[in-house]
This record gives sequence, structure tokens and C-alpha cells, in this order.
Amino acid sequence: MKIINKTSEKFLYKYLNATSPTSYEAEGQKIWMDYVNQFVDESYLDDYGTAYGVINPGQSYKVVIEAHADEIAWYVNYISDDGYINVIRNGGSDHIIAPSKRVNIHTKNGPVKGVFGWPAIHVRRGKDANLAPKLENIFIDVGASDKDGVLKMGIHVGCIVTFDDELSKLNKSWYVGKALDNKMGGFCIAEVARLVKKMKKKLPYSLYIVNAVQEEIGLRGAEMIAHRIKPDVAIVTDVTHDTTAPLYKAKEQGDLKGGDGPVLTYSPAVHNKLLNLIIDTATKKKIPFQRSASSRSTGTDTDAFAYSNQGVPSALISLPLKYMHTTVEMAHHDDIENVTRLIYESLLNIKKNHNFKYF
Ligand SMILES: [Zn+2]
Repeated sequence: MKIINKTSEKFLYKYLNATSPTSYEAEGQKIWMDYVNQFVDESYLDDYGTAYGVINPGQSYKVVIEAHADEIAWYVNYISDDGYINVIRNGGSDHIIAPSKRVNIHTKNGPVKGVFGWPAIHVRRGKDANLAPKLENIFIDVGASDKDGVLKMGIHVGCIVTFDDELSKLNKSWYVGKALDNKMGGFCIAEVARLVKKMKKKLPYSLYIVNAVQEEIGLRGAEMIAHRIKPDVAIVTDVTHDTTAPLYKAKEQGDLKGGDGPVLTYSPAVHNKLLNLIIDTATKKKIPFQRSASSRSTGTDTDAFAYSNQGVPSALISLPLKYMHTTVEMAHHDDIENVTRLIYESLLNIKKNHNFKYF
């Protein structure tokens, strides 16, 4: 069964091209909620911006499927007298890729265009021959001649900066752009909600479809919403590293390949019985998957759910992603469909009051 159709792909482009930096996720969240509202019985927004829809509300047993809504960005941290801007990170933004990128600086009057400048190759001589981008030396030029000029454009310390880029497709099979981490996850769980409605599935529990904020700075949105919902089970989706490209090290980073299927993680934070339920589902439904191992916790919202409340059986289904935290993140069409399919089919195998005790 094909999952991504014309309508859902239109939503995908609109959602991916929206701006959703950590702690300013509203633009993306509105688009996500508008889409998901067609398939859920109720929807909510918490005060920090986490959005969620509920299918079959009011049941005592609660199952969460979750992705994160926020994208990495920068903060304006310093404006020099001659009108150049220094930044700090908001999430794990990569200083190495910044020079020569176009940016949007978000002000209360709307986005202002700028660029990360960089000295020409011709002038980098002598001790500057190996000049490399660092957080301390990258800078934004907005075309102002001094500090006053910058301030007049509505830019101040604390403004958010995002890279100016758009989603596109390579070789008809790879989506490429920024913030596929983790808006592709938000897309997958929205598609799961659509499938539950379309297939007229009656679930024996309340299903919460959660698009959480503030993952990139430490799983904070998930932490908040896990305590609000108090779920019995959580299936989280995020991205993981495709390690096939040059300079990756599969032996250390995991032998994972985009196009070969969703990645299932073994980790103490992942509940083994829930993981086995997902593996059995994949096997029965002939959904390809790959395995990865993670010491201690997973580094994803899975940890926030697993260790919330009195412990919530949680598992992680990841989308292989090339070039994470760049503006050319790449995810394979088939993996996006198979992540969606695997979450959907696994949900159909979770029973009311499902027993997750080990013995
Ligand atoms: Zn990330």
C-alpha cells in the first residue's frame, strides 16, 4: 500500500518549509495541527507549544506516538559597532556549514534576510591559510553599515536565526532539505492518524499523537507532555544516522543505510517487550527494518517518556538520515513510508491494558 499521496505530500512540503526553531515552533505547529485535526477527535496545545491530537479519547489506557517539532537554529548574541552579528546556538547548529549560507533573522516585524559571510580564499594566506569556521568567528552580514542600521531593521540580541532553505527531491527518491530532523517524524505520525481514520480502525485505547517542542535542547517538550498525558505506552520516532556516505564510520556509528528500512534501537531506555512487539509486527507485515544499539539512553524523546512518571514502556522507531543538522539532510521516501507503516501496524497489536511485565 502506497502511503504518501498528493495531499499528504503537499502538507509535507508546507510543514517542512515552515519555520519552527526551538521555542518558536508555532508556525510549524499550526500547519501540523490543521492537518491532523481532520483525523482526530480532540486536539490540544500545551503552554510551551507541544501540540497533540487524540483518537478515541476518554479511555483509561493511553498510548502515545510522538515526534519532535523543533528545528535547530541560532540566537543573535552580539552586534558589533560596524554592523556584524555574532551568534550562539539554539540546539546543535553546526558552525562548520554556516559560512556562505543565507539566513532569516526573525524579528517582530517578520524575517529579515542576511548571510553568513566568510573571507575570500584569496586573502586567507600565511597563518590564515587554515582558517576554519568556529562558533566564535562566524558572523552574519545583513547589509547594514553600523550597529544602528542593524537595530533599525528590528534585529536585537535574542532574535532567532534560521538557515534559508527549502525541501526538494533528489533522484525521485530522496527528500532533501533542512529540519527533516524531525519534521519527517511529525509527518509520519500525522500519516498514522490519517490511516487510523481512513481504515476505520477502532482502537481499544486512547491514542495520543504528539508533536513535542524543545527536543533539540534536551528533550524538554517530551518531558513536559509525558507528565501531562501520563501514558501507559509510548512509541517515539526520530532520525538516526545513515552511515554510508564518505567520512562516516559505520563500525563505530552503526551500520545503517537509508532505503533499507526503519531503525529499531536496543537500549536500556527501550522496553524490550514493546520492542519485540514492534519486531514481530515488522516480520509479520514484511516491513524491512535495521537494528542499532545505544549505550544507556537513546538521546531521543524516548528517554523522556521512558523515565517519566513511574516508568512508561517506550520504544524508538528511527528514520535513517544523511547529513544530520545540515541544510541538506536526506531521507529516503521508502523509509518514511515504512516508519509510518510500522508505527501504524504496531499500534494495531497493542491491546487494552497490554501486559508489559517481564515475568
Ligand atoms: Zn536534531
